[in-house]
Amino acid sequence: MFNKILIANRGEIACRVAATARRLAIKTVAVYSDADANAKHVSSCDESVFIGGSAPKDSYLRWEKIIAAAKATGAQAVHPGYGFLSENVEFAQACADAGLVFIGPGPSSIQAMGLKAESKRLMNLAGVPLVPGYHGEDQDPALLQREADSIGYPVLIKASAGGGGKGMRVVEKSEDFAAALASCKREAINSFANDSVLIEKYVQRPRHIEIQVFGDSQGNYVHLFERDCSVQRRHQKVLEEAPAPGMTPEFRQQMGEAAVAAARAVNYVGAGTVEFIVEQKPDGAMTFFFMEMNTRLQVEHPVTEAITGQDLVEWQLRVASGEPLPLRQDQLRITGHAIEARICAENPDNNFLPATGTLHVYGLPDCVTFERNSGGVRVDSGVRQGDVISPFYDSMVAKLIVHGDTREQALSRLDTALAQTHIVGLNTNVQFLRNVVQSRSFAQADLDTALISREEAVLFKQEKVGLHLAVAGAVAHTLLQEKAQEAQVATQAVWLDPWARQDGWRSHGPSSRRFDFEFKGEVQVVSLTTLHDGALQLQVAGEAAVFAFKPVTQGIDVQLGERRQIVNIYKNGVVADVFTAFGATQIIAVDALAHAGDAQVEGGRLTAPMPGKVVSFAVKAGDKVTRGQVLAVMDAMKMEHTIAAPMDGVVAELLYAPGDQVAEGAELLKLVA
Ligand code: ADP
Ligand code: ADP
Ligand code: MG
Repeated sequence: MFNKILIANRGEIACRVAATARRLAIKTVAVYSDADANAKHVSSCDESVFIGGSAPKDSYLRWEKIIAAAKATGAQAVHPGYGFLSENVEFAQACADAGLVFIGPGPSSIQAMGLKAESKRLMNLAGVPLVPGYHGEDQDPALLQREADSIGYPVLIKASAGGGGKGMRVVEKSEDFAAALASCKREAINSFANDSVLIEKYVQRPRHIEIQVFGDSQGNYVHLFERDCSVQRRHQKVLEEAPAPGMTPEFRQQMGEAAVAAARAVNYVGAGTVEFIVEQKPDGAMTFFFMEMNTRLQVEHPVTEAITGQDLVEWQLRVASGEPLPLRQDQLRITGHAIEARICAENPDNNFLPATGTLHVYGLPDCVTFERNSGGVRVDSGVRQGDVISPFYDSMVAKLIVHGDTREQALSRLDTALAQTHIVGLNTNVQFLRNVVQSRSFAQADLDTALISREEAVLFKQEKVGLHLAVAGAVAHTLLQEKAQEAQVATQAVWLDPWARQDGWRSHGPSSRRFDFEFKGEVQVVSLTTLHDGALQLQVAGEAAVFAFKPVTQGIDVQLGERRQIVNIYKNGVVADVFTAFGATQIIAVDALAHAGDAQVEGGRLTAPMPGKVVSFAVKAGDKVTRGQVLAVMDAMKMEHTIAAPMDGVVAELLYAPGDQVAEGAELLKLVA
């Protein structure tokens, strides 16, 4: 076995590989870019080497730098992770030439599986079933059009060198073929520097089912069963699970044997995944076809680890150091059911646009000891609270993996784990993932790659937390915070916190106190009353209800009327992020009085509550306004906020124009009494 390896990657996979290496007492070397100088993967390794600028081409793709780092630190082998150089033939060869072990298959296996079209020709010879289609070398557009016409529509045009869901076009009819071909080729040349395409029949009700395979240098092969990765957006995986629902032992055996045949055909050594597309006929019959082989460890390998109890990185290290496969096929078993959710910095409600920013809060679920096959929750994360998600790399920040005795149990465990995932500072897909998990199709394992579009109505723009709960949580948190700050209440700091105003509120005797909030774009006036017996009453949207709360270890136990719920609140300026078992939302303190009253807002100044952009002004200079009237709309933290008049008055001057970027505290307009 090796005593030192270099990990030529970053993020969660670099941390993942380092964890197994540490368990096996193998020393690790990290490499890092400018943007990753303080990244988690650097501190997960024993030593590290700086390799260049933030863009991947200036660091993680510079293989000569990486090889030099391995030589300089005395590493004997290089683990490439996934993405970056993991499927790069030149890199694998350069490692070998430098006397380093590349922890992966040999260059010739990578080469053989590197281009989709060529690998299909090879698989055809090995007797692996292929999707009907054209994967020849001749790229004459007229010929491609004739081939597509004879396959029958819909067809899928794929960039032969494609990957990561890029370079694919579904074509519904013959007339659309030429334009789709041209656009696919443009994307292919830009993304992969190779515009060769292949054409496949577009499989109906397709499921993506892949088989994990392993080979060793003694010529042994096994498969570690399947993973169902049908839940996809833009041909990219979102949720993955093992085993595949509805799989029969016979079908599993056929697919497993086909996958092993594929690996054997290219003398495969190490971890690989053979991806199949499975067609589901209306009568439930399933047929599988080879799609591609990924010659590396896959993002979703933890679900296989969960159901088999094996550590696939340990297998990779053993095989790469020349040991035989740890187990034979007949020693491998499936236990329970596992699901992985990819947590990404993105905005599902805005076409999954990637998001960047600082992880102000990064709260993860309790990891129930994950002994790989004993049930539990596992988080593979490449970041820590306070880290920045930069625009340079993949938007995936972590993976949540759950294991249960049954699919139903795993599903429920995943839903709870997602509810306990509290991320503040940037948009993530956490709520979206919960919506998918709760959707009828996913819950009933009615899987195919169109699941997300079919369930669209319940997946996007879902409001899971109502006004009452959000308000009750925000008020409870404010009161608790005030209590904690009572000792320092004399200091000015409290007055600068818009959440900590004390006007009119007394803790003894009946009294009433007002809070102004903005929730889902509307201003809400809430009043808190302390009754004679000391009990609290909260009036929200005209309804008064008993209100009580107490801090507990998991958050704040909040009661409003007859319902109780644990709520977690994180405040950042005037914005509070609210997390509940149902989902998350934001509520904003709009303390109208604050703008008119204290020193900060003397003379009717109206200031931006947070950095953002002016969307519009609802008034112009000279307009008479009444208290509460909307004056301006700002866009900040990807939400719109209204700025309301703190008093009756006249607009003296607008100090910005729509579209202007403003800093927190900037004066937006002047209002005179
Ligand atoms: P899987 O998720 O099944 O492991 P993907 O095809 O989604 O496989 O790719 C895994 C990782 O590798 C992703 O981070 C993806 O962005 C990256 N990746 C895959 N293919 C390429 C490619 N051709 N160029 C750059 N990155 C790629
Ligand atoms: P990539 O290299 O980007 O991962 P794949 O060939 O693995 O490309 O295809 C990615 C996804 O596209 C699959 O998981 C599947 O959802 C869809 N897909 C691929 N081929 C077909 C097909 N012939 N019919 C229907 N869907 C397909
Ligand atoms: Mg693929």
